Amino acid sequence: MQILIHGGQLINPGRIDGFRDIFIDNGIITQIAPGGELLDLPAEAGERTTRLINATGKIVTPGLIDMHVHLREPGFEHKETIASGCRAAVAGGFTAVCAMPNTQPVNDTPEITQLMIEKARSAGLARVYPAGAITRGLSGQSLCDFGALQAAGAVAFTDDGCPVESDDMMAAALEAVGQLDLTIISHSEMMDLAGDGAMNRGPVADRLGWPGIPNSAESLMVEREIALCEKTGARMHIAHVSTAESVEAIRRAKQRGLPVTAETAPHYFTLTDAAVEKYGTNAKMNPPLRSEKDREAIREGLSDGTLDVIATDHAPHSVEEKAAVFPRAPNGITGLETALPLSLGLVADGVLTLETLIAKMTVNPGSVLGVPCGLGLGRPADITIIDPEVENTATPESFHSKSSNSPFIGWQLKGRAEATIVDGRIVHEL
Ligand SMILES: [Zn+2]
Repeated sequence: MQILIHGGQLINPGRIDGFRDIFIDNGIITQIAPGGELLDLPAEAGERTTRLINATGKIVTPGLIDMHVHLREPGFEHKETIASGCRAAVAGGFTAVCAMPNTQPVNDTPEITQLMIEKARSAGLARVYPAGAITRGLSGQSLCDFGALQAAGAVAFTDDGCPVESDDMMAAALEAVGQLDLTIISHSEMMDLAGDGAMNRGPVADRLGWPGIPNSAESLMVEREIALCEKTGARMHIAHVSTAESVEAIRRAKQRGLPVTAETAPHYFTLTDAAVEKYGTNAKMNPPLRSEKDREAIREGLSDGTLDVIATDHAPHSVEEKAAVFPRAPNGITGLETALPLSLGLVADGVLTLETLIAKMTVNPGSVLGVPCGLGLGRPADITIIDPEVENTATPESFHSKSSNSPFIGWQLKGRAEATIVDGRIVHEL
């Protein structure tokens, strides 16, 4: 199959941008030319059938990569399956996702890693890169066989959902994973400080009467991770940064030249803990939504490059599970199908340029994971075509995810993926 994308504005971080035509032949990008040039080529009669995509008024980017999703399979297929999660991904403009290992069983063996890759392949939608667990069963007790997991296809290691509390265990993991040239992703949380907290500690929690989680529960573990990074010299990626103190700690670590990278999620730069009063358990996640001061610090961290990546922490749960009383409801919200418009809001607000935003959703996560990313000649065609202007309302019916636990239901969102192309195949198109 051949595809010609014409008339769009190519935003290709660090390379070329401007109006370009892109020709895809048999899954590979074979030509990138000034806008209109390829469209005007006389068709070679009878030799090929080229699918034309008119991208006039649209933005054409490398395929978006979400490095933090919970696809729930195996074990929690009532929340999401690899197939439904991949449908949500491509509908949201993502051509690749990194799947967290807190499934049941946990992804701590090559068999589970291979199963996830196999399920993703048969779904035939987004690419799925599994992250393996750091410790067996996420128990914090003994390290996984990182080499075997890497050989099976794991691209990073994390106990996401749980911290690795032992300093020695985390240092050993950093050293072992560093030798494989892969990255540890840290779920930074001091469990004794988080205690039985259900939301951000502060006036809103006081008013609602729910136990609070202090900022230090995150930021002190971020400080510990940075210290271990310095000690071992190994790469460390900090997941879902939510506090001003964490942003500042990461900023200082980067200034000292440490190989630390970090991500935040759209809800942390969009909402504050005030959302809990409005949206209840659909605004419950871990780490929790924080104060306005934290939200501003997250935006500043994105703007100055402290926060490299925007990832969704897509965490589907059923309606019944989220109907529980607030402290007992599970943590997390869906994110794959709202991330792009919420993130485009950062451009509208002047926090990021469009090119920097696209970098944080494509080449930056790709390089943290060490997976193919970016758009260029001779590369597999993973491409997202975005209409930045179209507005639509988020509804449970509009989601392809099995779940719709999102505080953004009912929001008027601006911008969406009009088409998503993976390996030269159109896997989503409006
Ligand atoms: Zn986490």
